[in-house]
Amino acid sequence: MPTCTFTRDMQLDDGWDVCVLGGGPAGAAAAIAAGRLGARTVLIENTGCLGGMGTSGLVTAFDPMANGQEMLVGGIMREIVETLDREGELGPGVGPEVYAKGYMRWTPFRVEGYKRLLDRLATQAGVEVRFFTRLCDAEAGNGVVRGVVLNNVEGWRMLRARTYIDCTGDAVLAAAAGAACREAGRDTPRIMPATMASYFSGPIDWSRCGWQAQQDGLKRALADGFFTQRDRHMPGFSRVGDSLGYLNSGHLFNLDALRCRDLSDGAMLGRRLAKEYLEFFRRYVPGCERLEHATTASLLGIRESRRIVGEYELTVGDYLARRHFPDQIGLFNKFIDIHPYDCSDAEYERFRAEKDDGRWKLGPGESFGIPYGVLVPRGWSNLWVAGRCVSSDLQVHGVIRVQPAAAMMGQAAGSAAVQSVRSGQTACGLDTAALVSSLRDQGAHLPQTALATTATRS
Ligand SMILES: Cc1cc2nc3c(=O)[nH]c(=O)nc-3n(C[C@H](O)[C@H](O)[C@H](O)COP(=O)(O)OP(=O)(O)OC[C@H]3O[C@@H](n4cnc5c(N)ncnc54)[C@H](O)[C@@H]3O)c2cc1C
Repeated sequence: MPTCTFTRDMQLDDGWDVCVLGGGPAGAAAAIAAGRLGARTVLIENTGCLGGMGTSGLVTAFDPMANGQEMLVGGIMREIVETLDREGELGPGVGPEVYAKGYMRWTPFRVEGYKRLLDRLATQAGVEVRFFTRLCDAEAGNGVVRGVVLNNVEGWRMLRARTYIDCTGDAVLAAAAGAACREAGRDTPRIMPATMASYFSGPIDWSRCGWQAQQDGLKRALADGFFTQRDRHMPGFSRVGDSLGYLNSGHLFNLDALRCRDLSDGAMLGRRLAKEYLEFFRRYVPGCERLEHATTASLLGIRESRRIVGEYELTVGDYLARRHFPDQIGLFNKFIDIHPYDCSDAEYERFRAEKDDGRWKLGPGESFGIPYGVLVPRGWSNLWVAGRCVSSDLQVHGVIRVQPAAAMMGQAAGSAAVQSVRSGQTACGLDTAALVSSLRDQGAHLPQTALATTATRS
């Protein structure tokens, strides 16, 4: 496409300590942490609610937060799930035995309760939340972000802060600022498929439509040639209320999330597939005969787009070694969840092996550490990244891209940014012992005994 130049003046919004871009689990936790620590914090979010994929994306279940013996995830994420539990906003029958003790147990939640809770926590922390506002560009150089260009109904604005945290999922700020990133489909041979999640309602007999009944129905439907694409991997339909469930199924293969054409075509295909799954459940899964399609998500479910090249790149070797780090900012335990790249049997078998084979996953009582360096684009001074787009190899990305890990990383990035504002330390030169100590004061579960004043580097 040809290029052109367009110059214009815009209003300048100056004087912020911390600017967080993107209000998903990572961004919400980053902003709440920074606000609670007393920093002047602004949170920029493109949609009209916080929570990201967990709200606008309708993936209304938190991935495992415990390892069968203890709760690994502390801090703001733990506070969120405990508050939702107290306020009756978790799925029916779900409590601490699932989120604080379970091994590979998911915690479903009610989406409106979660939205309201995040509004409340951000407001109480003194965070200025700006909904319906999009990050469009950045002014940056020499490892420093000087400002971000935003657009909303009031027009264009340049916002300047002392520190910036990119929680857009797609590393939009890091890429615009010129930080090194790896892009799915360009720097990797393949792209993990996306999914458009759905809500189904109606009279549902949950005692008859459990996971096994759904998988049995899938086998029969595939044998009948029911679906337009022969996809053997159906994560399934999960209960979030007595008459409400969320469907995480209908893979959108080879969708490049960094191309608008692919996103647009993918959204339309996702809606068509959701209708097919509705018919499938009505016909093949007992207890779902009278299912209704409540809605599809407004945010397309992207699993993979960009990852930054950080001070540290967390690898599958670290994961399999159950490695802990002196500068770790979180602990986690989940299987490697790289969905089949296509509908072939070979891909499906590869996925099953990584998920089920004991050599590829951590067992009960185990954990690995997430070091601080995954949050910092290599060599950058006032920029952090948290959530789905941090620095890891593909296999570890398939472990830590989920909501509880994103929230832990967000809280760490928010706390690091405030430490940087107060001490003058750069992101890549931060005293990580002081950060770990601050996170522990905020309730993070960080049991390492040896601390280090510098980040672990690749
Ligand atoms: C289909 C699917 C099912 C999943 N199921 C689960 C599950 O069961 N449990 C689980 O824990 N995890 C699940 N995940 C993973 C998880 O939901 C995400 O990886 C996680 O939410 C990532 O958090 P994040 O904060 O990095 O990004 P996101 O949740 O994607 O949030 C990013 C936010 O940034 C905003 N944003 C993006 N660009 C801009 C911009 N330019 N300007 C302003 N705002 C912007 C977006 O609107 C969004 O609110 C699933 C993912 C998918 C795709």
